[in-house]
Amino acid sequence: MTTPLTRPLDALRDACPVVLPGDETYDAARLPWNVAADLRPAAVALPTSTEEVVAVVRAAAEAGLRVAPQSTGHGAAALAERDLSDVLLVKLSGLTGVTVDAAARTARVLGGTLWQDVVAAAAPHGLTALHGSAPDVAVAGYVLGGGLSFYGRQHGVAASSVRAVEVVTSSGLVRASAAENPDLFWAVRGGGGNLGVVVAIELDLLPVADVYAGMLLWDRSHAPAVTRAWVEWSRSAPESASTSLRVMSFPPLPELPPFLSGRDLVIIDGAVLEDDATAEEVLAPLRALAPEMDTFARIPAAGLLAVHMDPPAPTPAVGDHSVLGPLDDDAVDAFLASVGPGLMFAELRHLGGAFARPPATGGALASIPGDYALLCVAVAPTPQAAVAGKAAAFGVVRAMSRWSRTNLVPTFTETRSDASRFYDGDDWARLARMQDPLFVANHGL
Ligand SMILES: Cc1cc2nc3c(=O)[nH]c(=O)nc-3n(C[C@H](O)[C@H](O)[C@H](O)COP(=O)(O)OP(=O)(O)OC[C@H]3O[C@@H](n4cnc5c(N)ncnc54)[C@H](O)[C@@H]3O)c2cc1C
Repeated sequence: MTTPLTRPLDALRDACPVVLPGDETYDAARLPWNVAADLRPAAVALPTSTEEVVAVVRAAAEAGLRVAPQSTGHGAAALAERDLSDVLLVKLSGLTGVTVDAAARTARVLGGTLWQDVVAAAAPHGLTALHGSAPDVAVAGYVLGGGLSFYGRQHGVAASSVRAVEVVTSSGLVRASAAENPDLFWAVRGGGGNLGVVVAIELDLLPVADVYAGMLLWDRSHAPAVTRAWVEWSRSAPESASTSLRVMSFPPLPELPPFLSGRDLVIIDGAVLEDDATAEEVLAPLRALAPEMDTFARIPAAGLLAVHMDPPAPTPAVGDHSVLGPLDDDAVDAFLASVGPGLMFAELRHLGGAFARPPATGGALASIPGDYALLCVAVAPTPQAAVAGKAAAFGVVRAMSRWSRTNLVPTFTETRSDASRFYDGDDWARLARMQDPLFVANHGL
């Protein structure tokens, strides 16, 4: 639904740098990290200060526009399914920075800051954070959608590590924490972009200087034995172990290392938060499967950002997701039979442990029930490839429907979905009542 514009959009330029359709830079400005997501907003704002965000949100409201916050556009696929013709896209990529308080073990990060910058700033203090697998995902979209880290089975969802947020709402700049605006503080930790533009986040850091982490890699011909063994192992793996299993296919590309180029593989990776001897004991049943490559070792905590080998640059991608319950041998067979050509990967991310336990002080998304998060992704450089990729991803999700739960993980959800599936029923109702209609998120309430 579009609303009538009440002011010429040129007026937005008084608030901050703004790019409009027809401007030479419009196509570059509207391009998200997921370059397959075709966003066509009414205008793109590029603020570099909190004051500019406050001014441009006010100007957008006065002009009859809604506002969509965006940090990197890793999660832009679902936003692209919306009509953005009356929406101002506020890109936070120019509002970044990290301040670490080593004594308090916290970091304050500005709205568009990437995880790689938080991890780099924390590392000299022997600290790290509940980051995800990719260095260039932003803190904001990840923590406000829950956030699944390779530290997560021990420490829970990353949203629960947020201590305070500064949010530009339709009433202006608001600080929210356990002590100030507690309702907003609860809502934003899960309801993210539906409540306002987050311009700063204070996070708890973990006292972790190094970590036992890495990957085990086999040719795909070993996938039946490896997947069955990992599923069996995961049933009793300690909470200190957070791992993922992926069936992956790489095209023959000269820029890829030979162990990946042109190959179909099965890869287990992640972290084990134990001393070396205990971690080796935990991983022994997987290592007994004789991986072709084994990089698990003690590494500086910052190295965990490289373990999952996420794409280093903006990538066109489509995907599908579901949350699975316990898996048996039939489930493993169905999974492997459904992962066909056309997918870059089909991943099972191990849940459980602290992911499933909401802390007393948690927000709207404080836990994720289920045993595994299934995520299937295809590279989609053309619209035809996107159609084929979506079909391939959906095929795996459909094949696993016998083992699926009804809930979804927001950060793994690539398409517009029923947002009530992200939250517990009562939390969903409370959150939906708090939605600010001025704002548009990739996943609406
Ligand atoms: C390669 C790759 C690896 C990933 N690995 C993981 C992983 O290990 N664990 C995991 O949980 N997820 C992972 N994700 C998913 C990722 O966490 C989500 O896509 C997340 O939403 C990205 O946040 P972003 O801010 O970078 O992206 P954006 O697309 O900019 O943001 C997504 C949504 O978050 C909200 N938002 C973003 N910034 C703000 C802000 N400043 N204020 C208010 N709302 C905001 C908006 O509603 C926006 O539509 C991965 C994604 C990719 C592509």
